[in-house]
Amino acid sequence: KAIILAMGCRERTRGAINIPGFRPAGIYTAGQAQRFVNVEGYLPGKTYVILGSGDIGMIMARRLTWEGCQVKAVVEIQPYVSGLIRNQVQCLEDYDIPLITSYTVTKIHGKDRLKGLTISKVDHNFDRVIGSEKFIECDTLLLSVGLIPENELTREADAEISEMGGPIVDNNLQTTIEGVFACGNVLQVHDLVDLVTAEAKRAGFNAIEYIHNMYGKKTGKDEQIKCIAGENVIYVKPDLINKGDLAKDIIFTFRVKKPDRRVLIQFKDEKNKVLYKKKRKHVIPSEMIEIKLNLSEQQIDPVCKIIEVEVIPRPEVLIEKDKL
Ligand SMILES: Cc1cc2nc3c(=O)[nH]c(=O)nc-3n(C[C@H](O)[C@H](O)[C@H](O)COP(=O)(O)OP(=O)(O)OC[C@H]3O[C@@H](n4cnc5c(N)ncnc54)[C@H](O)[C@@H]3O)c2cc1C
Repeated sequence: KAIILAMGCRERTRGAINIPGFRPAGIYTAGQAQRFVNVEGYLPGKTYVILGSGDIGMIMARRLTWEGCQVKAVVEIQPYVSGLIRNQVQCLEDYDIPLITSYTVTKIHGKDRLKGLTISKVDHNFDRVIGSEKFIECDTLLLSVGLIPENELTREADAEISEMGGPIVDNNLQTTIEGVFACGNVLQVHDLVDLVTAEAKRAGFNAIEYIHNMYGKKTGKDEQIKCIAGENVIYVKPDLINKGDLAKDIIFTFRVKKPDRRVLIQFKDEKNKVLYKKKRKHVIPSEMIEIKLNLSEQQIDPVCKIIEVEVIPRPEVLIEKDKL
């Protein structure tokens, strides 16, 4: 009577990021290494470089250090860490593991077993900066370079997919196919499993409500408001809000495109009327932002068609000269 899509993500592999060079043994995803160490009781190597500063990579850097291995560096293509700040502090800084930002692996050395890597600096377009190459000797490379939502089934079912890869859902986590809901990493990559659990619970309750109140009844399609990502926002969930649900609490989740400080989070309609605003000291792409809102209480215009979420710089507080 209802289906909940919860297929999760898979890790991006070397093939997905096209690193040139030979194909020796000693290259794993961070998740594979985690399984070897934590479940199977094997160490994949002795000296490591971790490509990508995702949470799993940083957690593995610490774990391998505990096991007596040497983690020579975590190399990140972005100019900032891509996982949680607390993992940067607790997994890298506390163990003196260098984080090299704006660098990537540009060559793999070794034929049978990995012997080392060339890393190169990248510019703001992620193009290699010629002459910036450095060689790092290591026998193992772990990849922590992102997750790919497992949406093959979603596509086969003909549910609409958003630009970011997850299915388009309304505020009840229902996809564009009636009775089919989605939650967890297949919908959006979460920072922690606890957030996945909370979202899964919501999807479950909404699916039950659908079965009890809507399944088999010709209720007709509710008019919907479209939620769109504005300045410095990469995506917003839900993608759609049913106008019949405006009096309900709605949980919005979104991420910023780039880190920023002293910002203002704003929800506004297509007429630029601000429905909600909140100050925040800092934002970073690795930390998903969650805001619970009751749009009726925010005096939303019932004819509103679009809600845009933006994260904009707050004007600096000017200190007048005569007050100095
Ligand atoms: C390597 C790794 C380490 C992690 N470590 C941590 C951690 O330490 N702490 C933390 O909080 N979070 C961690 N996470 C994140 C956490 O695992 C995820 O946020 C969470 O598991 C996502 O839950 P999910 O139910 O959406 O997907 P998953 O837990 O991935 O579950 C999806 C399930 O669906 C199955 N599936 C997929 N397609 C189909 C299909 N077509 N038919 C049937 N079944 C299918 C998959 O096999 C899988 O069992 C880690 C993630 C990874 C990849």
